[in-house]
Amino acid sequence: MEKAISLIDFIKDEFVPEPKQIPERIKKEITLDLEDIFCPFCGHPLEYHYLSNARPLITIKYDISLRVVHKRCVNEECVACASKRNFYNPSLDLYMLPKKTYAMDVILLIGHLIQQEHYTEEEVVKYLLEEHGIIISQPSVNNYKRIALALGEALIMGNEEKIKKGLDGLPVRVYSIDGLSSNRSRTLFVIRDLISGIVLGSALLDKHDADTIHDFMEAVF
Ligand SMILES: [Zn+2]
Ligand SMILES: [Zn+2]
Repeated sequence: MEKAISLIDFIKDEFVPEPKQIPERIKKEITLDLEDIFCPFCGHPLEYHYLSNARPLITIKYDISLRVVHKRCVNEECVACASKRNFYNPSLDLYMLPKKTYAMDVILLIGHLIQQEHYTEEEVVKYLLEEHGIIISQPSVNNYKRIALALGEALIMGNEEKIKKGLDGLPVRVYSIDGLSSNRSRTLFVIRDLISGIVLGSALLDKHDADTIHDFMEAVF
């Protein structure tokens, strides 16, 4: 039981909204390593090459200053060595798009808010600030919205046989396709040129069925 001399303490003035407490960002300095692995072309152990300059990566929870370990194959008879192919942790391309500061989780959240929740771009700016402490401009939201839409594009048609044929028919280059669960039931696929390591395309697919992958690959090649 609590004694009160007035009810005033229990009354809230609803006309004055309480300012939202903006969540604090967690700052991290991260060096993304590549565990000692062997060259996929010749089996020679990869050697440390360099550590990239720090670049910002904003995820839903963290403000990351990210440096990435790059390795190389030093076997002179190997194509990866001859082409000076850099190797780095594959999760980089799965969660960070080239030249983009906001990570895949933020991009997917923007896409979700706009597509599923029908937020305006302005509302997304406000939401990201108030819920996650993320500062983002409206033009950036627009830009990331387009990326999210492109990633989430639902695709139909195709079959596994066609994918295999398509891969066999590729001249000279070797491609790798990585799929990794990154958001709910969706899978992010990244296709890269194995020799140069350049990412040729990435897509967020609802189902990692053969048809969808095939259509994605047709869009890339
Ligand atoms: Zn090699
Ligand atoms: Zn070097």
